[in-house]
Amino acid sequence: MSWFTRKDKGIQTPTEAKREAPDGLWYQCPSCKKAIHTREHRVFAFTCSNCNYHEKIGSQEYFELLFDETKYTELDPMMGSGDPLEFTDTKKYVDRIKSTEYKTGLKDAVRTAVGNMNGLPLTISAMDFSFIGGSMGSVVGEKIARGIDYSLKHKQPFLMISRSGGARMMEAGFSLMQMAKTSAKLALLAEAGIPYISLLTDPTTGGVTASYAMLGDFNISEPGALIGFAGPRVIKETIGKDLPKGFQSAEFVLEHGFLDFIVDRKDLKDKLTSLLQMLQ
Ligand SMILES: [Zn+2]
Repeated sequence: MSWFTRKDKGIQTPTEAKREAPDGLWYQCPSCKKAIHTREHRVFAFTCSNCNYHEKIGSQEYFELLFDETKYTELDPMMGSGDPLEFTDTKKYVDRIKSTEYKTGLKDAVRTAVGNMNGLPLTISAMDFSFIGGSMGSVVGEKIARGIDYSLKHKQPFLMISRSGGARMMEAGFSLMQMAKTSAKLALLAEAGIPYISLLTDPTTGGVTASYAMLGDFNISEPGALIGFAGPRVIKETIGKDLPKGFQSAEFVLEHGFLDFIVDRKDLKDKLTSLLQMLQ
């Protein structure tokens, strides 16, 4: 019965004979499973043309989406984390930073840039979830604070795009202090009468929700984004009650008065522009 058993292990097709689509040509929507050409996906601002699922994107994509002719200047691009607590978990914090920098090409979990959006000068701080879960440490707080300073100095609106798992545990108390620091800076912006719009994207949780993300003159969100402070399990254990279904979705949060509106990413630039024109 030797013809029933495979003599050689593994698939024997040589690489050059394999018929595969070139890498990165197709995108499969994780929600409805439809395959979409990556070029079409990009044209639709990385949303699904079939079910409108909003793919998670980073600071680079938001800057390209919002700034006119993708022209912008990044502020403090080289600012990187120290290791004030000499923290080690499964690996040393300094090593984790180094390997994440290498993997993502980013220096930390937020980038700030200035430029024009439909001709209006604007400062944008956008978070990158790929950098240690978009966690807020000293660099995130400082870069946002400096972005706000720039807006104050040049009297131009500030847009914060949050996507974060919360505070960065490797910097413990230093991370938590960023909540107070950014909140205080935003208070100065409010005092000067300069608009601050906060866009919450999937997911926005923890110390980020509890500070700058919810302090906008307008708090807006992308459809379907997860927005919350603690995870469902922790809340359930604390209050000892079952939680309503989907209670941390943008739609639920909007219905309960925590958001001003939900905006489709394809309309983001135009909606933000009209909003800022109204506020001027
Ligand atoms: Zn889809």
